[in-house]
Amino acid sequence: MATLVVSIVMTGLTFFALNGIQMEARMGDTRYARDLGLLLASNVTPLAVDGRDRELARVTEEFWRSSRSLRYIFYADPEGIIYLGIPISKVDSSNDLLLSRRLELPEDLRQRPQNPLIRQHLTPDGLVTDVFVPMVSGDRYLGVMALGVNPNEAVLASAALTRNVTVAVFVSIWVLVILGAVFNALTITRPVKELLRGVRSVADGNFGARIALPVGGELGELLNGFNTMAAKLEAYDEANIEELTAAQVKQQSLIATMADGALLLDPQGRVVLANPTARRLFRLEGRRLDGMDLLPLLPDLLRMELQDPLETMLGNSRDSAEVRCTTKEPSRTLRLVLQAVRDGSGETLKGIAVTVQDLTREVELNAAQSRFISNVSHELRTPLFNIKSYVETLHDMGDQLDEEMTKEFLATANAETDRLTRLVNDVLDLSRLESDRVWSFEPTDLGAAMEQTLRTYKLNADDKGVSLDIEVPASLPKVRGNYDLLLQVFDNLVGNAVKFSSSGEMVQLRAYPWPDSCPMTPGDASSPLPRLRVEVADSGSGISEEDCRRVFERFYRVENAVHTEAGTGLGLSIVQGILHKHGSDVHMVSELGVGTTFWFDLPLEGADNDELIISAERKAAALV
Ligand code: ADP
Repeated sequence: MATLVVSIVMTGLTFFALNGIQMEARMGDTRYARDLGLLLASNVTPLAVDGRDRELARVTEEFWRSSRSLRYIFYADPEGIIYLGIPISKVDSSNDLLLSRRLELPEDLRQRPQNPLIRQHLTPDGLVTDVFVPMVSGDRYLGVMALGVNPNEAVLASAALTRNVTVAVFVSIWVLVILGAVFNALTITRPVKELLRGVRSVADGNFGARIALPVGGELGELLNGFNTMAAKLEAYDEANIEELTAAQVKQQSLIATMADGALLLDPQGRVVLANPTARRLFRLEGRRLDGMDLLPLLPDLLRMELQDPLETMLGNSRDSAEVRCTTKEPSRTLRLVLQAVRDGSGETLKGIAVTVQDLTREVELNAAQSRFISNVSHELRTPLFNIKSYVETLHDMGDQLDEEMTKEFLATANAETDRLTRLVNDVLDLSRLESDRVWSFEPTDLGAAMEQTLRTYKLNADDKGVSLDIEVPASLPKVRGNYDLLLQVFDNLVGNAVKFSSSGEMVQLRAYPWPDSCPMTPGDASSPLPRLRVEVADSGSGISEEDCRRVFERFYRVENAVHTEAGTGLGLSIVQGILHKHGSDVHMVSELGVGTTFWFDLPLEGADNDELIISAERKAAALV
């Protein structure tokens, strides 16, 4: 545009300058024609006054010949009739010098002989300057002398030059403009446009933009600089993204593997993130939660508990809250800790982080512990009370009692002391089993433990008329276990079997190895190992189906109501605890009036110790 304006201005200036020169030349032309006319008129007027026409013609012809610039000369009489003209325009053949043409001239011309009429007109041969000079002698008007003067050739040439120069200047400026534009497009505009495109795409975050143009000089350096900058940004971006992704993956896996539930809500209370534990605790597995309101997703009780604190926090009037709630089906005790997440300035609420702890097991353990303590206290109180009563009676009324009664009282107090001792021992055994104590497991000869148990109960069984039998193969493989603990298992099981059998009934101990390919029990992920199966069977009183489900509970005794037999109700719990420590479990089958069989499997001595530890931990975790 600037070039165009400059070109127009320059062309205009050139045009006006040359035009001015031309005008000046044209004025010179006019003055020349006027002077020529006046000169000729002053020479020929006396001849015209005297009527010397021949002389007039001669002078005129000489004048005509002397100047190349004269186109024509003619004379007209006062009436305007042309009577002489060079070159001759022939009208009448009889008189060459007479021209029958009449000239129309302005009236006032004859009044101003020094001020001839000058005009220009265009002929096919070019422009002609006409000069009409009145010939006046004194007061006498002799007519008009007219001559046509060719324009000055230099002026003509300058006019042509003016036009040509103007056109040439204009055309050359335009050619320059076009060449400049093309040059710009090729060398500047294209790289600049490419640079602009590259800068825009970098600004939009696309750091892969590069400019591949073969441009040299400073522009080339600029493009190279851009490419280097974009490459560095790209590398930086990639490193950043990698770091961010790694950090995100770490966070996500941390959140996903957290034992506690974790939820992130947006400032409107909609779920942004929920880890698998939270989904499991709220029973929302497999559901799409993103962008959903949290409250309607929760169980009724929890929703009611959570509504107020959550709304207060979303209203930005509180920073943290804690809710404890018990849900039904499944029955769970949950503790929810809500924490507001704010921006750097700490003013705008960005979301709410919720951690969910499942306190069910803790609560159950606490309840079990309380139950256990109250049971122990209750069980301890009864023998203590009995001992105290008998000892008190003996103390207060000792002299009034006969020897037999004294003996009976002392025997009762003694029996109650035994019961108390048993109870305390059992409680201690149980608590030892539940402690984190590490037991040593070694290759153990189970046959020896079984023999020892039989010897212990032989007398008792004989007294009751119960037969004790042992069925063990000669080459019984050793098991991996703790001899003392396993002895206690036999002691409790055989003790119960003898206790709940009557005369004529029998108690049998059996042990035999299982084959290698024993099937995996459902829920037991460990590989089937060769094991030794142990059975303690009796044909005693048996246990009802209902009681079968409860005999392993602590302090549960079928004969609780009757208390016919001594016992603490802890024996089977201890058996179960010991077998769990061995990575095994105790099973039973019983029928009232038919008998009861307890059995369990033990790993053979070659068993993998690590696997035993894992399976023991798993069993212990299942024991509440
Ligand atoms: P206790 O020390 O009272 O025997 P246990 O835990 O060993 O406690 O047994 C719990 C209950 O299981 C016993 O009170 C008894 O009623 C029942 N029981 C255990 N073993 C037998 C058995 N072999 N035959 C019949 N009942 C049994």
